[in-house]
Amino acid sequence: MKNVQEILAQLPKVDEVLNDSRIEASLDKAPRSIVLDAVRDVIGRYRKQILKENGSADSFNADSFFDALTKEINDRNKPSLERVINGTGTILHTNLGRARLCKAAQEALQEIAWGYSNLEYDVQKGERGSRHDHVEKLLHQITGAEAVLAVNNNAAATMLCLSAMAGGHKVIVSRGELVEIGGSFRIPDIMESSGAVLREVGTTNKTRLSDYAGAIDEETAVLMKVHTSNYKIMGFTADVSVKELVKLGEAKGIPVVYDMGNGLMTDLSEWGIDEPVASSGIKAGADVILFSGDKLLGGPQAGIIIGKKKYIDKMKKHPLARVVRMDKLSIAALEATLREYLDEAKALQNNPVLRMITEPAEKVRERGERLLREMEDAHHMTLHVVPAQEQIGGGAVPAKTIDGWAVMIDSRIPAERIERQLRKNKIPIIARITKGRVLIDMRTVDDAEIQIIATALRQVYSRNKQESGQ
Ligand SMILES: *Cc1c(COP(=O)(O)O)cnc(C)c1O
Repeated sequence: MKNVQEILAQLPKVDEVLNDSRIEASLDKAPRSIVLDAVRDVIGRYRKQILKENGSADSFNADSFFDALTKEINDRNKPSLERVINGTGTILHTNLGRARLCKAAQEALQEIAWGYSNLEYDVQKGERGSRHDHVEKLLHQITGAEAVLAVNNNAAATMLCLSAMAGGHKVIVSRGELVEIGGSFRIPDIMESSGAVLREVGTTNKTRLSDYAGAIDEETAVLMKVHTSNYKIMGFTADVSVKELVKLGEAKGIPVVYDMGNGLMTDLSEWGIDEPVASSGIKAGADVILFSGDKLLGGPQAGIIIGKKKYIDKMKKHPLARVVRMDKLSIAALEATLREYLDEAKALQNNPVLRMITEPAEKVRERGERLLREMEDAHHMTLHVVPAQEQIGGGAVPAKTIDGWAVMIDSRIPAERIERQLRKNKIPIIARITKGRVLIDMRTVDDAEIQIIATALRQVYSRNKQESGQ
């Protein structure tokens, strides 16, 4: 046994570490400031540990020191926003970035990020153009809408729409449709911020056309319908369809705004997804329709406003339009995503959100089987492919689950530890624990990610040994 001072004296000085060949590679990759901070921290950590052990441990181990240092530098040099593997089975996971983008959108992002673009320039005429033009024609073709305006997100779209159409005036909404979408977005709050005055009608479970009709006065600027995209009212219920609302609006000369939320562009009823398609809202005669770009549409974050030109033009001229405008990268991704919808069969194949929703359970199970085969020879865990219920998520289609498959991990290593190790993987893998076992849902895992998961699961074994000090 050595005394503490002797072991402490073996700790390298900062300069010595910086000149050691074992961190040469790290110095090439990471800025010197990051390396320096990491060196100081790891030396400090080792000093503390040596003092804690009070001479009971062996001498200082330089190799383990440089391994720890390299890991520390790598961790610090990683981008904060990083890719993860979604093993939750929730397709539109808001915490995990909602929609995965299609290939065409990824390519458009690269191209537009790299160079200059005609964002607000009309190349044909050689004069100033509008950033709104890039998606207007496409959305007209897909939904039949007369005019289009895309903004930052649907919360912004709602705010802009109500400010422009109903600032200082009344907006009539059913009590059954005063939606909250994840804490910070509540229809009544957004309405108040927009300067419109909320006039609630009906009850939580029943609202009739006569409720709207009875509430209309000379101060009423908008009849609003909100799609209850993240909850379902069941049982003794009644609500008023867009069509009926439009009829009432036309008779009284009041426009109808329909917040559809999801932005479904193509009918998915064949797959049991009973959600209204955006074009159906236009057909029903709604004056303005609002929806998100990154929910069922499967594009980048965006709020899309479609409808009658007279109202959209008013919004385009409103000062808030500048505040909530979309940037060129999102426009590039949105345009490419929408282009796929010109051929519905192609969209179902190429748009990852639609592909995941419509993929047969059998295919999901095959991916699980592949992961099993990759792990056949592992001794520290046994994998099973088990039935699972997957969700669309993102506040969309709440009452619907999809039959699918997950890989369940059987191991003597505690589930919490496996789950944590997967999260701490180089590409973090987000799994869940059900009944004491780790589950990786295969619907939201891509073919290309199976190998990565297998490698991570193998490393769980060695990392577990390190962690439990065996
Ligand atoms: C999701 C949703 C919103 C908010 O959309 P974001 O794009 O997340 O801002 C608003 N209204 C409805 C009905 C929604 O479903």
